Amino acid sequence: KIRGIIKKYETNDLEYNIMSLVLLSMGGMSIFSIIINTIIGYPFIVSIKWVFLLVYSVFSLIAVLKKSRMKWIKYATLILLCFVLIPFTWFTTGGSENVTLLYSTILLVVVSVVLRGTQKVILVTLFIVEIEVLLLLEHFSPSMFSTVGRQTLFIDSMIQLPIIIVIISYLVSKVIRMYKKQQHMIKLYNKRLAKISLTDELSKVHNRRSILTILEENFQKAKEGKQELQILLIDIDNFKEINDKYGHQAGDNVISSMCQEIRSIIYREGIIGRYGGDEFLIIFNDISFDQAKVYADKLQQTISSRKIEGISFSISGGLVNYENENDIKQLIYKADILLFEAKKMGKNMIRIIDYSTNPKQLSILEKTSEK
Ligand code: GH3
Ligand code: MG
Repeated sequence: KIRGIIKKYETNDLEYNIMSLVLLSMGGMSIFSIIINTIIGYPFIVSIKWVFLLVYSVFSLIAVLKKSRMKWIKYATLILLCFVLIPFTWFTTGGSENVTLLYSTILLVVVSVVLRGTQKVILVTLFIVEIEVLLLLEHFSPSMFSTVGRQTLFIDSMIQLPIIIVIISYLVSKVIRMYKKQQHMIKLYNKRLAKISLTDELSKVHNRRSILTILEENFQKAKEGKQELQILLIDIDNFKEINDKYGHQAGDNVISSMCQEIRSIIYREGIIGRYGGDEFLIIFNDISFDQAKVYADKLQQTISSRKIEGISFSISGGLVNYENENDIKQLIYKADILLFEAKKMGKNMIRIIDYSTNPKQLSILEKTSEK
């Protein structure tokens, strides 16, 4: 999935699209000019630059579409347009009075999209120098330029201006559209990445980092008295034996199936994450301690009475609620002690913290958490 997104993201590359667009426009303009020149009846020699441009754009476009030599085509095309085509048109078709300057504006939009940093600064600087030189030449030695009649300029503007307007609006809207699309792809990509970085690959539940972050958030809320907090730490009983007896793959399947099962049981009332190898942490979502006890009991009963892929197994656990602990470590530590107790007492059971009726347990916990 991620690979697909990356691929899509890459093919949406703005630079690639703009270069294809430029070459396509160059080709289109060449064909258009050749046709017009032929209709008018100009000799073939007039169209020779358009033929050259057409051949260049077709070959470059093919290369760009194949994604080969992108970099060189980019440089060659920009140099060709800025320093050959623009001055050539300037000299031959009436200098600053015609639409060449408007084409230059389009070109600068393209340059700002496909070039970066120093390259862009160099190209724009050279372009400014070029335009200044052309203007100076035009002013001080107008005889260098072929004079074009008012009538020709008028017809030229009538044809070229609509084309320029269409190209500019298309280019600008294309750039904006692609920018938005890329933003969307980046957001999507980030979301997927975030999900991957927070999910345990095997069990598809929250990984350790994620579940601890959630616990930290809930802990703060509990500390501020905004909600209740109960956590249940569970560990699969004799999991090593399952691995030894049925194989590691079967062990993996047990983990993933069990997690899905637990998720469907706690549903919206809790969140499960993988705390360690076969150890899982469940955080209950603002339900009462009694309700949490019911869920803990149900989980333990369901798991020990059900077979996953023909394997029956059980879990042990420790359930604790927030009682003015200083940090989450203390809370987890208490759950861990209870889990340890459950294992010692014969497994397949959930030990529940009881501050009121079991002062002995409380004193054990206090002693151990002081360590
Ligand atoms: P206990 O009842 O005391 O918990 O005994 P246990 O055999 O479950 O012992 P323990 O929890 O210490 O061992 C966990 C074992 O789980 C050790 C490790 O080989 C196995 N394990 C940890 N992660 C994975 C995993 O992703 N897949 C599989 N198949 N096994 C795992
Ligand atoms: Mg275990």
